[in-house]
Amino acid sequence: MTLLPTHRIKTLVALSECPVCKRPIVCGGGGIAFASATFACGAEFVTANEEITVSSPCPSGSKFVVGYLNDLAAAAATAAAAAEAGVP
Ligand SMILES: [Zn+2]
Repeated sequence: MTLLPTHRIKTLVALSECPVCKRPIVCGGGGIAFASATFACGAEFVTANEEITVSSPCPSGSKFVVGYLNDLAAAAATAAAAAEAGVP
């Protein structure tokens, strides 16, 4: 079964941007048996065991979540300050 791994390598080599956050590729390439792609966000995908896999995950999802957590904390702080000031 060489057809599927070959197409997985071609698929990875064809990427020009992170498929998660769309930051551009900074390093990548591939040959007959292996390919890798590293993106400006820090994500790196490689072929291993004849599949495309994650070597370093894209951090965009985590950045989105911590932004949400910081917004939640700011809203709680604002509400607590209003309660201390006696504002209804
Ligand atoms: Zn990314």
